[in-house]
Amino acid sequence: MASEVPKKVGIIGGGQLAWMMGQAASTLGIKLVIQTPQVDDPAIALTHPLSTIDPVPVLAPVNDGAATAQLAHRCQLITFENEFVNLIQLQQLEQSGVCFRPSLNALNPLLDKYKQRSFLDKIGLPVPRFCPLHPYHWSLIRKSRTSAELREITTAHGDFPFSLTFPLVLKTRCHGYDGQGTFIISDLSTLQTLGLQFQNTPLLVEEFVPFVQELAIIAARDLDGHIKVYPLVETQQVNQVCHRVIAPAVVDQSILQQCHRIAHTILHQLEYVGIMGIELFLTSQGNVLINEIAPRTHNSGHFTLDACKTSQFEQHLRAISGLPLGSIDLTCDAAVMINLLGYEQNNDQYEVQRQAIAQLPGAFVWWYGKSQSRPGRKLGHVTVKLTTPNSLIRQTALETAMEVENLWRTH
Ligand code: ADP
Repeated sequence: MASEVPKKVGIIGGGQLAWMMGQAASTLGIKLVIQTPQVDDPAIALTHPLSTIDPVPVLAPVNDGAATAQLAHRCQLITFENEFVNLIQLQQLEQSGVCFRPSLNALNPLLDKYKQRSFLDKIGLPVPRFCPLHPYHWSLIRKSRTSAELREITTAHGDFPFSLTFPLVLKTRCHGYDGQGTFIISDLSTLQTLGLQFQNTPLLVEEFVPFVQELAIIAARDLDGHIKVYPLVETQQVNQVCHRVIAPAVVDQSILQQCHRIAHTILHQLEYVGIMGIELFLTSQGNVLINEIAPRTHNSGHFTLDACKTSQFEQHLRAISGLPLGSIDLTCDAAVMINLLGYEQNNDQYEVQRQAIAQLPGAFVWWYGKSQSRPGRKLGHVTVKLTTPNSLIRQTALETAMEVENLWRTH
């Protein structure tokens, strides 16, 4: 354990995740300094009476290593709310003594979806079948005139670890978020068109998983290697964007065990320190596949702010500061988190809708204060704590989510 809790922690990224960390930091007596490009990013623009975010940020893009050097001068250690960093520049800082938590070694295999899949595969964890797309892969895809021909060519070809059949999933290897950069493709001509559109972008193709449920797990590992895993959640995506999270997920014990094994294996293998979000697919055969790892606090863990004894934000700060991890227990039977997603282009702050939602029993509204709304943009979220027997968790959660969504869109 670190001998002393750091007084100042630097955060690379200034979105809502950093803003929510600000309130957790105050309870631990830690100050946060933010590196972010815009003064109107949530962590800087939105003040909160409890927040200990330094009002003077390092105003620079998250991948600006020279700016991170300035951040390091003002803090004892640096962590991440955003993984779109320049690892090579950060490695130079690490060599000169800057402390990053999680470490750059732990982040290294996670920042590129192909490298992440390869790492998971190598340590024996289940992932969808995948293949990086290099120019020679594309030449074969372009040469195919029909889906059947594509399947035939890729079945015979040693450079394709699986035969390409539709639907399949094309992903940009880096910088994807909220489904941007993820394409579910059902025909050859769309695949060929996207190949042209993204010809200068590293891409990955993977099998489409006909999952029955999407799950996520938030887990933390401290400096001594202790691990705590929050209740498994069900996530519901529409057009690749998360709309709802139900905690806890109602699944069999064997599924819960698979998820816990996955979380423990990843955290131990990486000697990871901090919070991690792991997105999972559950198949109809009861198998769990890993979709994606986020090396930071995660949208599927926002319910922990209001419905758990320790929020994911506090847990992350505890882990990286050398404090013992807090309790991961729910403080209610169940909870549902609904993302308040933009559905139009404007600069409305939706106060009427927010007030109506806040009046629902057990509801906690978080508003990120973004100046611009656009379709699909995360503007805030609501957690509703539920009183319900286990057998009715899913039904109660879905009914509550629909109520919130109606107020959000129609008020
Ligand atoms: P992002 O990194 O932008 O969040 P993801 O890779 O997590 O993108 O994909 C977003 C969503 O797209 C997933 O939650 C899931 O609904 C769908 N998806 C992604 N990969 C697959 C896949 N291989 N099979 C089926 N659906 C997928």
